[in-house]
Amino acid sequence: MGADHDDVSLADREDLVGYACRMAADDLAPGTSGNLSVRRGGLMAITPSGMPYERMRPADICLVRTSDAALISGPRPSTETPMHLALYQASHAGAIVHTHSPFVIALSTVLDELPAVHYAMADLGGPVRVAPYARFGTTRLAASAAAKLAGRNAVILRNHGALACGPTLERAYERACTLEWLARVYWYARLAGAPQTLSESALAEVSDAVRALRYGEAAPLSETAPPTGTAPPSGAAPPSETAPPARAAPPAGAAPPSGAAPPSGAAPPPES
Ligand SMILES: [Zn+2]
Repeated sequence: MGADHDDVSLADREDLVGYACRMAADDLAPGTSGNLSVRRGGLMAITPSGMPYERMRPADICLVRTSDAALISGPRPSTETPMHLALYQASHAGAIVHTHSPFVIALSTVLDELPAVHYAMADLGGPVRVAPYARFGTTRLAASAAAKLAGRNAVILRNHGALACGPTLERAYERACTLEWLARVYWYARLAGAPQTLSESALAEVSDAVRALRYGEAAPLSETAPPTGTAPPSGAAPPSETAPPARAAPPAGAAPPSGAAPPSGAAPPPES
């Protein structure tokens, strides 16, 4: 286990503390709720349980062995350690951010899936599913969250919050912000009427364009679907549990080149 220690750097610990401290201000998690982790080799570095973020120091970050959840160092790790471990097992994620953000939680009580009301949803791999309620910290919650994550970079937990994954902590955090922003947009759209949503092929087209941009190719940006133009004919109600569990979603790392939505949630991916 000694050698594995080196995999989690001081910079990793500082990043975890730094992003944790931003959560309340970014409206992602009030008080000591929410938690963050990164995976390094066979170790997971995760924020401690019940410690106010402003008092958290890099030395308080807990190291947990991914193979058997053994605590290697640090105080008491987050109560959601089983859920982080389950998501790492089910994905290639390098980092996970768990939030209690208000619009996501509100919608988790009435939706089975957050529909694609904006093309930024492509960065999350498609409409984000809602995992059924189970008590925090349980393996039941961990298992259902991991199952509903399939083919996505985020999953919503009913009556609880959400998790966002990424190759880096920065990307996972951006996706957590994007998810909350999308939930807010959907909320407003529902207030205004029956939102039209983007089809799977429209989102795939966005992912292709982002990928092309990233590799410096001429991207058909002028052809990208406008946010409201390509909805299915009915477009009305949220498509509840109908999404296929494993559609061809972009891989976990398929990210826009410059980082998707800024923390404020303003402008999402490519066109800027
Ligand atoms: Zn939670």
